[in-house]
Amino acid sequence: MNSPSENCGHRAGPADAASERIARNWRHLVEEVGQAARAAGRTPESVRIVGVSKYVDAAMTRSLVAAGCYELGESRPQTLWSKASQVEDPRIRWHLVGHLQRNKIRRTLTAVALIHSIDSVRLAEAINAEAEASRRVVEGLLEVNVSGDAAKHGFSEAATDEAVERIGRLPNLRIRGLMTMAAGEGDAATARRNFDDLRQLRDRLAAEGLPENVSMQELSMGMSGDFAEAIGAGATIVRIGSRLFAGVGR
Ligand SMILES: *Cc1c(COP(=O)(O)O)cnc(C)c1O
Repeated sequence: MNSPSENCGHRAGPADAASERIARNWRHLVEEVGQAARAAGRTPESVRIVGVSKYVDAAMTRSLVAAGCYELGESRPQTLWSKASQVEDPRIRWHLVGHLQRNKIRRTLTAVALIHSIDSVRLAEAINAEAEASRRVVEGLLEVNVSGDAAKHGFSEAATDEAVERIGRLPNLRIRGLMTMAAGEGDAATARRNFDDLRQLRDRLAAEGLPENVSMQELSMGMSGDFAEAIGAGATIVRIGSRLFAGVGR
């Protein structure tokens, strides 16, 4: 610990203020996620928070880690690679939450714990091939476009049965569940409907029987504006960005 005299002349700068604000945002979020879980008759531990660090640089991402957030998400593969090399902590698990181009698979696999955005059978096959070549087993989620928004990636609900069957044959890929985003300009009720649709799809797929490489325990849904609705509908992973960096100059 620093003695008081060593602290003399140390003034809290903007970086300290930002770190403190991020830590406070994190504590509040953990509390609210816990409340939403209890309100839904669930335990706080049944919902994991992925902190989406795409809005901030490596230094502020480190502040989020220091606050206690070890599950970090990025939406662009290149940013994930560079953050993963700059923000090193053995406790961090990186999540890719945005679209993955096939030429970016190889470098992504070395850094990522869970790919939330498997949105085509072709991409799944390419991930499996790279995983096989580097002797890895990769965990991922199938992204489903439940809102039908043309601007969004993901399988249509109707395409998921065939996707599960085909992707279930790929030996180096483990599907752990489903991911979605609610409709772009929707209100809370629309978001809740979208999330209920994903849970019902998951329940149906699970009831119909799954290939050995596929399980359906994870539902990645809910962002800063709609995580309470998602938790009410059964989310096991919420992906939160802007809420964590509110009030931080960026
Ligand atoms: C940016 C992003 C998030 C986080 O969104 P916020 O509204 O900022 O919390 C979650 N999921 C995906 C796929 C994203 O791209």
